[in-house]
Parts: sequence; C-alpha cells; structure tokens
Amino acid sequence: MPKSTPGELTVDGIALELVLRRKRVKNVNARLRGSTLLVSAPAGMPEEELEPAVRGLASRLLRRAHAARVNGEGEALALARKVAGRFPEPPSVGRALFVTTQRARWGSYSTRTKTVRLNAALRGMPGWVLEAVVAHELAHVFHPDHSAAFWELLGRACPEAGRAEAFLAGAGWFARNIDVMPPVERELLLAEETRRDARDA
Ligand SMILES: [Zn+2]
Repeated sequence: MPKSTPGELTVDGIALELVLRRKRVKNVNARLRGSTLLVSAPAGMPEEELEPAVRGLASRLLRRAHAARVNGEGEALALARKVAGRFPEPPSVGRALFVTTQRARWGSYSTRTKTVRLNAALRGMPGWVLEAVVAHELAHVFHPDHSAAFWELLGRACPEAGRAEAFLAGAGWFARNIDVMPPVERELLLAEETRRDARDA
C-alpha cells in the first residue's frame, strides 16, 4: 500500500495542500490540481532531499498555471464569440472574464456591458463544458426563462448542453463529497481520472 500524507506547503507565497504518496517510483512526480499538490515520491527518499525537489516542482507548476490563467481569458473570449456565432442573431461579446464572485451560478451575460462572466471553477474544465455554459447564458438573451423555446434554442446552438449539465452536476457532487469520501472511494475515483488521462493522451 502506498503511504499518503496530507500536509501544507507554501511556495512562492501560495499556500498549497500537499498530498504525498510514497511509492515504488524512481523520481519525484508532482501534479497541481487547483491548490492541491499531488506528489509521488520514491519510498526511500530522505525528507531533506524530498523537500527541495517538491518545492522546485511546485514552483514550476505554479508558474505554468499562472501563464495558463493569463491566456485563459483571451481563450474564453474567443470561445464565447464562437458560441455566439451559432445563434441566429449572434449576441455581441466584448469581454469574457473568470470570476470568483458568482458562487451560485456557472455564468452570466450582460446585454448592457456585452460581458460574459464565467465561474472561475470552470477554468480547468473541458472546452465543451465552457461552451455549453456560455450558450446557456446567451440563450437567455432571447428567452429569459427556462421555457421549452429556451431549451429548443439552446439545443440548436449547443447540442452538448445536456451532457455538460450532467458533467457540472457530477463535478459539483464530487466537490461537495470529496472531504467526507472514504479514502478507498476517493482513490478509486482518482484512478478513473488517471485512466481517462491515459486514454486521452
Ligand atoms: Zn438559465
């Protein structure tokens, strides 16, 4: 059984939750998931060797995540404009922003400011999920309610809308349950994610 140790680590002024697994691996590997750093390290590596290696990897991953974030809003704007173009009368999109202030919703669109706001939790999610959230908000330009006409328009602009809703419901469920989930089930779900990564690679 690999040993797993949760802890905290501050790198470049950013507090990370550290999940360390000692395994039969040759090198230290790290992945960043939000503010959680998942590290696998050789079983016999001494602590004083491990710490600088983990810090180095974390620092590099944080820089990469920051670069992705800076690019993210340009990409989100291009994505939102692409989605708008699928409507019979394309709404104009001037800005697309990721925000942390819309806790109760995935997105919004203002016809006045021409701004699409996306919940920052969407940032790391697949593009087709973002497209569906944008399409939902833009469909409200034509139908403020969730009437049959709304769903019909949304379905035409974004055939993946239903699948994306299920994806978001699953993501929300996981986020709500991760802390109370027994370690075995958590491991199994993470393994599923690894299998998916391997399949998509
Ligand atoms: Zn709605």
